[in-house]
Amino acid sequence: MSGEVNQQYQAFLRKLDGFFAQVMERHAGHMKCRKGCAACCAVSPSFLPVEMDNLRRAFAGLPESLRQTIAAQAGAAAAGVRRECPMLVDNACSVYGQRPVICRTHGLPILFAAENGEKSLDHCPLNFEGVERIDGASILNLDQVNQILGLLNIQFDPEAAGERKNLAAAILEWEAHPSAD
Ligand code: SF4
Repeated sequence: MSGEVNQQYQAFLRKLDGFFAQVMERHAGHMKCRKGCAACCAVSPSFLPVEMDNLRRAFAGLPESLRQTIAAQAGAAAAGVRRECPMLVDNACSVYGQRPVICRTHGLPILFAAENGEKSLDHCPLNFEGVERIDGASILNLDQVNQILGLLNIQFDPEAAGERKNLAAAILEWEAHPSAD
C-alpha cells in the first residue's frame, strides 16, 4: 500500500475508534462491548483489497505459533467446518489494533439504506436493551462509512475496486507464500 493511502486508511480507523469511544462514554450502561464478547466475529468475513493488505501485514507481524493457529482455523473455515473468523483466538481478535472497518462499527447503532431504499436503524441485540430512542449523535451512517472505504480502496487498487476476498482463503495464501515486506 502506498504510504499516503496507508496514512489515510489509518486516520480513518482512528476516526471510527474516536466515534466508538464517544458513544461508549455516552451509553456505557447500555453497551456490552468488551474483550471476551465475540458475537460480531461469528462468521468467516470477506474484505476489500485495501483492508486485506493491512491485515496481511498485521498477520505477518504475529508470533509464528499464533500464525499457525490462525492458519489452521483458516483451513477449517475454508473447509466449511468452522464458522467464526479465523483471526479469532480465545475469543479475542488477534489483529485487534488493525481490525478492518466493519469490525469497528459492530456494537454501534448504524443507519443504512435497506434493499428497498428505506433507511434502516440497527444495532447489536446485546446493546441498547430497553432504550426507546437513541440520540442522533450516537448513530453511525454506515453508507457514508462504506463510501469512504470504497474511495480509499479505489486509490489503493483501481483495478480491483469493490472486489471482496474471503479472509480465510487469503490467510492460507499468506502462510503458503509469505511476502517480503
Ligand atoms: S478481524 Fe478480528 S474483529 Fe474482525 S471479525 Fe475477525 S476476529 Fe472479529
